[in-house]
Amino acid sequence: MPVTRQTPLTELPGVGPARGKKLEKLGLSTLGDTLNHLPQRYEDRRECCALKDAPQERPCCVSLIIAETPRVSYVRRGLSLVKVRGVDGTGSVNITFFNQDYIREVIRAGESYVFFGVVERQGNLFSMTNPVFEREGDGRHTGLIMPVYPLTAGISNNLLAGLTRRAVDDCLDGLPEALPEEVRLAHRLCQTQFARKNIHYPADYEALAIARRRMVFEELFVLTCGLAQLKDRRSAGSGRRISGAPEEFSALLPFAPTAAQRRAMDDISADLRSGKAMNRLVQGDVGSGKTAVAAFGAWAAAKNGIQCALMAPTELLAEQHARTMDALLSPAGVRVALLTGSVKGAEKKALLSALAAGEIDLVVGTHALFSQGVEYRELGLVIADEQHRFGVAQRSALAEKGGAVPPHVLVMSATPIPRTLALIIYGDLDVSVMDELPPGRTPVATFAVGENKRQRMYGFVRKQVAEGRQVYIVCPSVEENGGGWEDGPGMDLKAVTSYARQLQEQVFPDLRVGFVHGKLKPREKEAVMAAFAGGTLDVLVSTTVIEVGVDVPNASLMVVENAERFGLSQLHQLRGRVGRGRHQSYCVLMTASRSETARERLRALCATNDGFQIAEEDLRLRGPGDFFGKRQHGLPQLKVADFAADMELLKEARQAAEELVAEDPALSRPAHGLLREKVRELFEENAELFN
Ligand code: ADP
Ligand code: MG
Repeated sequence: MPVTRQTPLTELPGVGPARGKKLEKLGLSTLGDTLNHLPQRYEDRRECCALKDAPQERPCCVSLIIAETPRVSYVRRGLSLVKVRGVDGTGSVNITFFNQDYIREVIRAGESYVFFGVVERQGNLFSMTNPVFEREGDGRHTGLIMPVYPLTAGISNNLLAGLTRRAVDDCLDGLPEALPEEVRLAHRLCQTQFARKNIHYPADYEALAIARRRMVFEELFVLTCGLAQLKDRRSAGSGRRISGAPEEFSALLPFAPTAAQRRAMDDISADLRSGKAMNRLVQGDVGSGKTAVAAFGAWAAAKNGIQCALMAPTELLAEQHARTMDALLSPAGVRVALLTGSVKGAEKKALLSALAAGEIDLVVGTHALFSQGVEYRELGLVIADEQHRFGVAQRSALAEKGGAVPPHVLVMSATPIPRTLALIIYGDLDVSVMDELPPGRTPVATFAVGENKRQRMYGFVRKQVAEGRQVYIVCPSVEENGGGWEDGPGMDLKAVTSYARQLQEQVFPDLRVGFVHGKLKPREKEAVMAAFAGGTLDVLVSTTVIEVGVDVPNASLMVVENAERFGLSQLHQLRGRVGRGRHQSYCVLMTASRSETARERLRALCATNDGFQIAEEDLRLRGPGDFFGKRQHGLPQLKVADFAADMELLKEARQAAEELVAEDPALSRPAHGLLREKVRELFEENAELFN
C-alpha cells in the first residue's frame, strides 16, 4: 500500500482503532507525525558475533539456524515458556521466551534468524532469554543502531519503530526544508531529510551527531525567531508618552545615583518618551540599587497622570517597597498604596475603588495586583521586581490590564541565571545592565565554618551588636524536624521558632532577638520587620522569607545555618542582605556537612561576590534540571535541545534568528513560509505562554 505523510496511522497494518487512540495520546495521528516523535535514546545493535565469541553480559547479534520446532510448556498459571534451540558453526544455544506463545508459530525449524540479546555461557552451554529476533536479512531490528522511543501504555517500541521506519523509508521525499538555505549553509547544517532519517535510524554515531545538531538548531531557531518577532511587534506597538527628567527625580534621592543607575534611568526615560511600549529588563547584582531606578519610573508615570503597579515576589518585600516608595515619592505628591493578599474587607474595597478612580498613582503589591476584580483607571507602567521567574507568559497576562494601549513594562532582576539563558528568557526585552555598586561598599567577607566554630560565631554576633550593627540568622525551615536543638546544634534543621527562643534565652539573654517566618500572620511579620528596620531588634532569626530584596543597611552580619541545604544563588541572595551600608559586612555559612561537593559549593561562594559567576557555578554543580523546568522559566519544553548542554548552538541560533527577523519581520517571504508556520505552531501549542 502506498503511503504519504498524511496517511492516518489507523490505515496501517497493526494499528487498529484502539492503538490509534493510544498513539493519539502521544500526539501521533498521521505517518508524518511519527517523524517528529524522536527517540529518547538508542541501542547499539550493530555488533555481530559467532556464539563462541559472544561477549559476556553485553548484548550482541548472533546469526543462527533453528535446529528444532519450538516447544511450549506451561509452568503454572500465568507463566508459559517457549523453548527453541539454534546453532551456528561454533556452538548451540538454548533460547527461552517467557509468555510469548505466539513465537511457536513464528520461528520455524531449518530457517535462519538473527537474535539480539545477551549470550550466557555455562561451560560449553549457551543460552539466551527473551532475545529480539528477525529473519536473516530483514535488518529492521538487528544489525543497526535502534531507536528507543518514549512510549505510552499499550504501545511497544517495536510498533513505534515500525511506524517511523515506514515514515523514514517512504515519506521523506519532498519533505520541505524549514531552514532558509543561507542560514543552513552558514551554520553548516545538514538537510532536513538527512536529519530526519538519521535521528531515527542513524547510520553511525557521527551521522547521529550531525542530524541532532541540525534538529537542535532548528528547534532553537524556531523558538528564537518567535521571540524576535514578539520583541519586534512589541516595540512596534504604541505606548503612552511619559516624560520625566532623571535629574529632576534625583533631587528626591538621599544619595547621588551611581553612573549605572543614571544610565538605566536614561534608558527608561528614552523608552517612556518614545511613544512605543517599553519592554525593558534592568539587570543588576544584589545591592546595585535597582529600587531607586524603579522609583524613577513610578515618579515619571505619576507626574504624567498615569498609574503604575509595582509587583514584588513576596508580601514582605511588597511591604518594604511600599514604605520606601512612600518615603521617597510622597514628598513629590505621588500617592502610594499597598495591595497584597492580606489586605481585606472594607480596607480592600476602599483601595480598589480609589485605584479605579485614579486616586492612587503607585500601587505596590504581590501578584494580587493582577488578580480578578482589580481595576485601574489607567495602568500605564508595570514594574516587576526580583522576578527571575517572570517569563513571557506572566508579562503578557499583566499587559492585558493596560486596556487598549499596552502598558510599559519594566522587569528588575538580580539575574541568578546564566547569561545565555537570560537572553532567551528575556529574549524579547531590551536590557540595561547595572554593573556597579554604590560607592563605599566593601565586598562581604564570607566564611564557611563547621560546628566547632559555633561559639566563636556567637561571639562574633555579640561583637557586631556591641558595635551598633544588626545581625540576620537564617535557618532552612520553620517545621520542627526530628530531635531539634537539644540534640546538639547542627544535627538537625534549625527550627526557627525554637531556635530563636533558645538563642534569646540561653545564648543572647542580653540582646533583643526577633524572629520571622512565612507562617506568621502578615501583621506580625510586618511588625517584626519594622522593628528590625527601625533598630529595636539586634538579631533577626528568619527563614528565607528575607531572601529577596530586604533592605536594612545597618545589618552587617548574615549567618546561615545548614548552609549546605541552600542553592548557591540563594545563598548569594541571602548574603546580599548585608553589605548595604558603610560598614564592613560578613557572611558566615555554618555547615556540619562533611560532603566534599557541599564544601566545594560553599567555597565557590566564599571566593567571589559576582552573582553571574555564582549562577554559572550553581548550574554546573546542580545540573540543569533545577534551573530549567517549564514552570520556572516560562518557556516551552524543548523536544531535542537542552538549554544547558546546547548553549553554544543556542547563541548561534539566536543570532541567526535576530538577523532574519530584522530582514523579514513577518517572515512573509515565500522562502520563509514553512518557518513562519512552525513558529506559529510552537506559539499556538504554548498559547498560554506567549500570546
Ligand atoms: P537592589 O539592587 O538589590 O534592589 P537596593 O535598591 O535595595 O538594591 O539598594 C541597596 C541599598 O543601597 C539600599 O540601602 C539603597 O538605599 C542604597 N543605595 C542605592 N543606590 C545608592 C547610591 N547611589 N548611593 C548610595 N546608596 C545607594
Ligand atoms: Mg531589590
